[in-house]
Amino acid sequence: MMQETFFRNLLDSLYEGVYTVNHERVLTYWNKEAERLSGYSAEEVLGRSCSENILRHVDENGVELCVKGCPLEATMKDGLQREAEVFLHHKEGYRVPVRVRSVPLLDESGEIMGAVEIFSNNTTKAQAMEIIEKLRSEALIDPLTGLGNRRFADQNLEKLLQSANDRDAPFGLLFVDIDHFKQVNDTWGHCVGDRVLTMVAKTLAYGVRPLDVACRWGGEEFIVLVPGVDRQGLIAVAERLRILVENSWIEDEGKKIAVTASFGGTISLQGDTNETIVGRADAMMYLSKECGRNCLRIDEEQ
Ligand code: GH3
Ligand code: MG
Ligand code: MG
Repeated sequence: MMQETFFRNLLDSLYEGVYTVNHERVLTYWNKEAERLSGYSAEEVLGRSCSENILRHVDENGVELCVKGCPLEATMKDGLQREAEVFLHHKEGYRVPVRVRSVPLLDESGEIMGAVEIFSNNTTKAQAMEIIEKLRSEALIDPLTGLGNRRFADQNLEKLLQSANDRDAPFGLLFVDIDHFKQVNDTWGHCVGDRVLTMVAKTLAYGVRPLDVACRWGGEEFIVLVPGVDRQGLIAVAERLRILVENSWIEDEGKKIAVTASFGGTISLQGDTNETIVGRADAMMYLSKECGRNCLRIDEEQ
């Protein structure tokens, strides 16, 4: 008993999420960092199967690991460790990039009795916290979603346009608008609407690479600044974000609520201003709406 408490405290002090499953993939242990990373408390998940709507890891193509082949299950079969970079489903719906490792659990006679999954956030925490504090103090953060606000977007955009002109370093810009968002508010209420909006915001923010910036432009509209890409690169980023948004959901009173978004994109041109480049991406986004939504349209290169 004494020993069990010791190990529990030890596991709870880790900066990695740790959970265990038995042969039936029923969750038998869930540490504190797993609670923090996923938003689910131990009480909510223990005794449930990991393939229920809890984590539902997807890879960057949106393929669910539960469907493609669960690494935990494979580890329990052959006793081998596995590692993967995936996106987990947070209780608040958004997708969080994590590195996961599955390790077999052996009983005293060496038989496999289950598996452990160890997972950690793929972003460097300390760095992120520092930046966030600075932005907060300068009123550049949108209080609802935690993303940079329109002022922040404008400032970044000016800097990028400057260096694009000075150094001939074009960049990509995406305009993102949630589909039929009014219906979400009308059906589920404004509070749920706010949660869905935050879910999409975080999925975008966590889904981009470290130098890319996702900001809330206003309402249910976002822009994403993507330095160092050409048209093909921008298409790849937009398609990945579209898939991640499509695969995000929140739960409200046992119901799953998901949305999609329409994407428009363009590459910066010599002489662009904030208004001209955002205007082009916005116009492309409208084409996506016309083509049925949940898709992307990226400007032809001029
Ligand atoms: P479309 O697919 O054509 O974009 O349809 P839509 O319903 O998303 O577009 P529309 O512009 O008609 O509606 C946007 C809605 O977004 C209306 C507004 O009430 C809602 N909205 C804007 N900001 C917020 C917010 O901060 N919280 C919530 N809950 N809703 C918001
Ligand atoms: Mg809109
Ligand atoms: Mg909309």
